Amino acid sequence: MPAPLKTEAIVLRSIRFGEADRILHLYTPRHGRVSAIAKGVRRARSRFGARLEPFVHVSVVLHAGRSDLYTVTGADTIAVHPALREHAATLDAAARACDAVARLFETPEPHPEVFRLLANELALLGSAEAHARAANGLAFRLKLLLAAGILPQLGSCASCGDPEHLEGFSAAAGGVVCSSCQAAAFPLAEDSYRFLVGAVGQPLAQAPDASERTLRQAERAITETAEHHAHVRLRPLLRHL
Ligand SMILES: [Zn+2]
Repeated sequence: MPAPLKTEAIVLRSIRFGEADRILHLYTPRHGRVSAIAKGVRRARSRFGARLEPFVHVSVVLHAGRSDLYTVTGADTIAVHPALREHAATLDAAARACDAVARLFETPEPHPEVFRLLANELALLGSAEAHARAANGLAFRLKLLLAAGILPQLGSCASCGDPEHLEGFSAAAGGVVCSSCQAAAFPLAEDSYRFLVGAVGQPLAQAPDASERTLRQAERAITETAEHHAHVRLRPLLRHL
């Protein structure tokens, strides 16, 4: 029998299984995304209690089985963020953050920086409802693109290197493009460009605010980048606000 895996984890998703069990999707710092079964967790007297609910940051002991599915044999709470569940907006933003991590980082490849980013995002959403705004969600996604190694080029034209006349965005070219290279691009307004640059450079809590039109363009740049370079379709953020 392999030694049990003791790790911090954030519960991304929890799916009912059988009569009393749940299958959990967990994100870990050193083992990426793993799936585990929590047996009997839906019984009133389960020893796990509410410790394995979505968005909870736990320390877990996992036993490897014959399949890819681990079995949870121990769980201690590190952070719960109870306030996060008090508002529909923060609950929805947390679900979207976990979903984006699950889609962009679905393998066991370690990305400890993604784990910390998600832990920060959930703590932020749990600290104040005001953080459940689109600008924050987009800044979080941009930082995920950075961690995935597919952050769009923003400093100069992704096609020819021109640092000026940046007027479009092309996921195929790999970022912003200049007026001469704009053929396959969509127009990117200066405000949207500033938002992308600001959101990448600032801490999550200080994601710059912007108009809805600006945020929609930024979202399009992020969504098309994830589709083109990671073949991942992110759930729309702005349509739901
Ligand atoms: Zn160019």
